[in-house]
Amino acid sequence: LKSMLRRPDLVCDAAFVGGEWKQAASGATFAVMNPARGDVIAHVPDLSRAEVAQAIDAAQKAQKPWAALAAKDRAKVLRKWYDLMMENQEDLAIIMTSEQGKPLAEARGEVAYGASFVEWFGEEAKRVYGQTILGHMADKRIAVIKQPIGVAAGITPWNFPNAMIARKVAPALAAGCAFVVRPASLTPLSALAMAKLAEEAGVPKGLFSVVTSNSASEIGKEFCENPIVRKLTFTGSTEVGRILLKQAADQVMKCSMELGGNAPFIVFDDADLDAAVEGAIACKFRNNGQTCVCANRIYVQKGVYDAFAAKLKVAVEKLRVGDGLADGTTLGPLIEPAAIKKVQEHLDDALSKGGKVLTGGKVHDLGGQFFEPTIVTHATKDMLVSTDETFGPFAPLFMFEDEDDVIFQANDTIFGLASYFYAKDLSRVTRVAEALEYGIVGVNTGLISTEVAPFGGVKQSGLGREGSSHGMDDYMEMKYICTGI
Ligand code: ADP
Repeated sequence: LKSMLRRPDLVCDAAFVGGEWKQAASGATFAVMNPARGDVIAHVPDLSRAEVAQAIDAAQKAQKPWAALAAKDRAKVLRKWYDLMMENQEDLAIIMTSEQGKPLAEARGEVAYGASFVEWFGEEAKRVYGQTILGHMADKRIAVIKQPIGVAAGITPWNFPNAMIARKVAPALAAGCAFVVRPASLTPLSALAMAKLAEEAGVPKGLFSVVTSNSASEIGKEFCENPIVRKLTFTGSTEVGRILLKQAADQVMKCSMELGGNAPFIVFDDADLDAAVEGAIACKFRNNGQTCVCANRIYVQKGVYDAFAAKLKVAVEKLRVGDGLADGTTLGPLIEPAAIKKVQEHLDDALSKGGKVLTGGKVHDLGGQFFEPTIVTHATKDMLVSTDETFGPFAPLFMFEDEDDVIFQANDTIFGLASYFYAKDLSRVTRVAEALEYGIVGVNTGLISTEVAPFGGVKQSGLGREGSSHGMDDYMEMKYICTGI
């Protein structure tokens, strides 16, 4: 891996704890694998809970002086960090593809996307506004100010090893908080490389730590039980989100949760079918289906069902499966053997309940963690895929009759993160966009993610928003000052 990089020192085999690059006191490490090749690319420290507590102590020391700086000075550091991420975009992308598997072009895109949050929140730091309220009595004046929460802790997943951290650390630092993150153990190298650049950008010692550990639940407990931590931010499954919310209850900690989705993708009779196919490819197969905003259930209106299926088949058959580092690859491997098992399980279940394979349908000839991009027609609501996210390259096509029918089916889930639909009729567009019970609706587009919009879910998809001016609120407390005159 190092030989492919302009800056081999961006591959770190130490954790970044309180501004120091450290090994675990026990000497324990764990291996990082390349999911395309199945080989070990690095070992990183397996820190203990006590070592994570040291990072939290250091964060507490660093936070107050950082918060006391003028917002403009915090912004300068974030700007520098953004510049360094973009200067090293290619190396960060190679590191990411090597540990996560996504095609290099997508990895480059993710680095730019992650960096965009650092740029954006640096700018937003300068635009934290309060409010004045007319006093409730003649001799009273009320002012509302916003202040940083303090020390925030984050737990992040492997599917976006850079951006899921950037979306949290950037608003935290911009607001004047300190941040300790435990990256997914499958993809710690991207996080450590970000920390190296943060250090170079002048992020003060201790303000940002990356604590690598193979025991997620232990670190989760430390984050929830350590009284210094006042905010927990998590991206991952709804299952783990529930555990963390319960744990955080004892300290009544503020929580932001970006949890699972089960995105519907709806194609109405009046849709531009070519555009809908392009959108479906982008949103179903990006990152090989391993995103929480990937289309999971594709609903197609009866009149265009066969035509859409035929066009989608042609587009899917153009996708190229392979090593993400190889030229021309559009679908990499899945992250781990368990991911292949889940796709197979959803597929077998669908076929046993009347589904028909239109293309794909099995492990790819490359073997390992590669799976053929698959379309199944005749999908029905009793199939596993209608309630559970596949997180893989499996596209089930459901048929629907009319608007009421599809809105009911689309909303018939505990999740509410992203949704998509294609239609032209203006009244329908307005009605459907308002009726979908989701935090995000893509209308005639399959790509909805940007740092300028408030990303987040309703129902059991989560709490809070990341990105946009609202993204700062998750790291700030409101205080009102009532003055008698
Ligand atoms: P995913 O399907 O994305 O892996 P998970 O919710 O299983 O979703 O994992 C997301 C992150 O949460 C990972 O970094 C994982 O290691 C971590 N994690 C899993 N279980 C726990 C737990 N009990 N406490 C804290 N973190 C956890």
